[in-house]
Amino acid sequence: MIIDLHVHPFCKEATVTPSLGEAVRRMFFGATPEQKSLEEYAALGRAFFHNRTLDDIIDDMDEAGIDKACIVAMDLSTHYGVELVTNEDVAKMASAHPDRLIPFASVDPSMGRLAVDRLVHAVEVLGCRGLKLVPPVQHFDFSDPKHHPLWEAALDLDILVWTHTAHQKSHPDSDARLGHPMLVEPVTLRYPDLKIVLGHCGFPWPWEAWSLVARRPNVYLDISAYAKLYDHLPWDAYSKFEVEHKVLFATDYPLFGFRETRDALDRVDIPESFRRKILGENAMPLLGL
Ligand SMILES: [Zn+2]
Repeated sequence: MIIDLHVHPFCKEATVTPSLGEAVRRMFFGATPEQKSLEEYAALGRAFFHNRTLDDIIDDMDEAGIDKACIVAMDLSTHYGVELVTNEDVAKMASAHPDRLIPFASVDPSMGRLAVDRLVHAVEVLGCRGLKLVPPVQHFDFSDPKHHPLWEAALDLDILVWTHTAHQKSHPDSDARLGHPMLVEPVTLRYPDLKIVLGHCGFPWPWEAWSLVARRPNVYLDISAYAKLYDHLPWDAYSKFEVEHKVLFATDYPLFGFRETRDALDRVDIPESFRRKILGENAMPLLGL
């Protein structure tokens, strides 16, 4: 069983608000003076959205032997006024392919109580099974005590919290400091039972991410987005400090391919038993499979 813990279901069926052109302009060209029409900005996003369907994503999974994928929404309401795939979208897509897709909701923590309400709705009504967060782009500080109600809700709902712990090259005004893994530390101290996945290996702080995973029982790590840098991950330290059971396969598809990430993992010099854990055995109990 191969499980991809981090997939963006960019396709025709996904919602982008306020519009594809406006979303592209705000997220990637917000600081540059107006140069293009909204139609031209929309054209930049079309390859990812209008020209692909959910079935194309399933076909790509089939081609690369991916059995299940966690598909994520992205709520960037307060910083950009953009939603890139909604909670309703991921729920609907997953109900069309219940054996293949697992829906992860997104909320914007800066929205406070509204974010908590949206998370409860996404899990209890829509059936989402995880929460996806992107602090460098959502511009929130994971360690800020004002977010405690959100962590308490995630605990009550018994869902996985996936958070982007890495810098973010894609958005020009992202704040890399907010992706630092150690910002997660105070939350793990206060809520030791909350299950947190550090997304994207922690780059450029893979050792800090390893430190959290090695010390905190409910902190995990995924290997998405950085297949090119796998040589720089502390694979032997994962093994020596007995955290092989906490490393999870993920791609960040379609930004990085299923096949290229699988091939890169195949080239890593680790025991086959560890590779099997990464590819799916570790994720199964976390996702209740
Ligand atoms: Zn991602």
